[in-house]
Amino acid sequence: MIQADYGSIEVRGAREHTLNDIDVDIPKRRLTVVTGVSGSGKSSLVFDTLAAESQRQLNATFSAFAQNRLPSYGQPDVDRLSHLCAVTVVDQKRLGGGARSTVGTATDIGARLRLIFSRAGRPSAGYSHAFSFNDPQGMCPRCQGLGVVSVVDETQLVDRDRSLDDGALTFPAFGVGQWFWRSYARSGFFDPSVPLREYSDEQWRILMYAEQGELKAPNPDVTSYEGVIARFNRLYLHKEADAFKDKTREAFERIVTRGTCPDCGGTRLAEAARSSLINGRSIADLNAMQADDLVDAIRAIDDPSVAPLVKDAAEQVERLGVLGLGYLSLDRATSTLSGGESQRVKMVRHLGSSLSDLLYVFDEPTVGLHPRDVHRLGELLLELRDKGNTVVVVEHDPEIMVIADHCIDMGPGAGRAGGTVTYEGPYDGLVKSETRTGHGLRAPRVSRDGDAVRTPSGHIRIEQASTHNLRDVTVDLPLGGLTVVTGVAGSGKSSLIRGHLPAVRPDVVMLDQSPVRGSRRSTPATFTGMLDPIRTLFARATGAPAALFSPNSDGACPECQGAGVIFTDLAFMDGVTTVCEVCRGRRFKDEAQQYLVRGRSIADVFEMSVAEALEFFTEKPIRAVLMRLSDVGLDYLTLGQTLTTLSGGERQRLKLAGELVAGGRFYVLDEPTTGLHLADVDHLIALLHRLVDEGNTLVVIEHNLDVVAAADWIIDLGPGAGHDGGKVVFEGTPAALAADGSTHTGAYLARYLT
Ligand code: ADP
Ligand code: ADP
Ligand code: ZN
Ligand code: ZN
Repeated sequence: MIQADYGSIEVRGAREHTLNDIDVDIPKRRLTVVTGVSGSGKSSLVFDTLAAESQRQLNATFSAFAQNRLPSYGQPDVDRLSHLCAVTVVDQKRLGGGARSTVGTATDIGARLRLIFSRAGRPSAGYSHAFSFNDPQGMCPRCQGLGVVSVVDETQLVDRDRSLDDGALTFPAFGVGQWFWRSYARSGFFDPSVPLREYSDEQWRILMYAEQGELKAPNPDVTSYEGVIARFNRLYLHKEADAFKDKTREAFERIVTRGTCPDCGGTRLAEAARSSLINGRSIADLNAMQADDLVDAIRAIDDPSVAPLVKDAAEQVERLGVLGLGYLSLDRATSTLSGGESQRVKMVRHLGSSLSDLLYVFDEPTVGLHPRDVHRLGELLLELRDKGNTVVVVEHDPEIMVIADHCIDMGPGAGRAGGTVTYEGPYDGLVKSETRTGHGLRAPRVSRDGDAVRTPSGHIRIEQASTHNLRDVTVDLPLGGLTVVTGVAGSGKSSLIRGHLPAVRPDVVMLDQSPVRGSRRSTPATFTGMLDPIRTLFARATGAPAALFSPNSDGACPECQGAGVIFTDLAFMDGVTTVCEVCRGRRFKDEAQQYLVRGRSIADVFEMSVAEALEFFTEKPIRAVLMRLSDVGLDYLTLGQTLTTLSGGERQRLKLAGELVAGGRFYVLDEPTTGLHLADVDHLIALLHRLVDEGNTLVVIEHNLDVVAAADWIIDLGPGAGHDGGKVVFEGTPAALAADGSTHTGAYLARYLT
């Protein structure tokens, strides 16, 4: 078939980050897959150039009023971008929206169900608002549509052994010296130096429970007196812990405990909405069903007045299943979803949209997906294309590369050794090409041969686990081996390992993709501890104090306090960062930059990549850390790159590098191949083996079949997801799993191995 030509988006002279002044064409209304080792520049091209420029131009079309409220995107470093279209970025950022955001609201399926119930539900509850827990008409009055009620634990809000002056009020906003604190301590009702437990009953009541305006304080400066609990309930109780920063948040979580709302049973809905039924089911019943079952329940609604809505809603729910999310229910809070799940939920919403001629960009959409579901994900990408959109996907999975209309391979290496287009064209050519991707695709696939499998030195038992969907699972995890836990998404892998392992093995180290604390000023150098020997080296060689060579100490640029950037908080948006004009992003004050070791300043060192630093440093303690960073595939990172710019996969591997110490430890890794190219996966596997050989135990949750094949022991969960999963369907070696072939993982492994 001859395909129509819709022209191309032309990128000319792209130089963002490490891009090497490159030109590429991205065919419109086609599926383009961008490949290459990690750090080769895929994101710089797709997200930081294409998507950023489209976003910037879109924002420029808004009124000045709106623009003032939008983050200002800097112009990407590129000569020209022609025929660009409006962009939608479907990434792995968690879905926000707090407790009011659910799978139902995020996919728009919830809105369709509400319309269906408002027309066909009996008795009728009214319009569709009456079925929305985010609308005053529809929400349960007791919990305000949150499904949970909060209870204040008084014993955590005050310390009765202390006096007011001594910090008896433990919530930070009520702390000593704060305005609220003054309204109690200086009210004239109490002696602020007396411990609370010595208060009379009346004083206790006044301190804790007096309503606003009920009492006039003896001190006329305290204009409106209100008890601690009354004030806390009014100002804070309805908020979510996420709304607060560190200390306040910790205190809040200690003080407020949450439980299912007794009125609505957690369904969030008011009485009228809960009692309106279709086929004997309420909207709350449907919201609680897992998507795989919900499809049939929706299809069974045969009221002709809602037929088009039913068809639409059923199709949307079906897409959840196709994307391997059939185990989710619509009432599941989006805050509990993983990055990969979040990305696929967003994808469902876009597939239901009728807009066309958009540019969709995806960031590794197969993350978290079992090989069984990757194929179907590919079909949905093609569906999005066939609705008239241009789809660009950054991806490492060969199953997605193979269906691409066009491939762009970045490389040849990472960091400054990358940034070039090494191949452009159809998949067939990519496989044959002399690129690392081509080599990776041609490499033979083998499993760990039976004799090579390690004998465990003992076992750790998880007994009768039954969190979420787990059905009384008992497993023995081998000590001193590499165990891979497999199973389709939603089968219960995280529930089992993350949920139960810490109870039986408290010293387990979970290395995941979550952000690193305080990471706006953290860098690979500070995070790994490598800065200490580097500072010592500079101090010894120059005679200046070591603190001068730290961007978090005396050496800091006074303008940006060593961050290199100035961060502006925007109330309702992601903040904006701009490069510090004083140090021009170098973090250090001039004085620190005057001292040189082998011709380089400390600021120069921060700009070196790990690979360059390995050539520069001869000192053992510094090299040891650099080698570890290189081992985990991060040799392209600069020592001073802000950790907030790292992807989830890079963060996880950085944590791994920061942890690598002498043996005897127990590590859990959650999909460590995220963001890794085929060639990088080989390195990662070698590293995992070395860790085990050094006496550590590794449990890895993974879908990547190369990692599965490299395991000593496999625990396969399933057979399906949600209530169809939660059981151990296979335990044994990779060879036995492939030979058995009765499980999804076994079947795919057998097919994969040559
Ligand atoms: P990929 O997506 O292929 O993994 P990236 O485009 O993320 O690669 O990175 C290419 C290079 O640009 C790497 O050396 C990376 O460290 C660097 N880089 C990426 N983002 C930033 C940033 N925000 N600031 C500085 N350097 C960056
Ligand atoms: P996997 O790790 O294999 O993808 P999970 O352990 O995340 O599987 O999920 C197993 C089951 O537990 C699924 O039905 C999922 O919807 C449910 N589940 C997981 N986390 C939560 C949560 N925070 N709240 C409610 N249900 C959850
Ligand atoms: Zn309620
Ligand atoms: Zn500065």
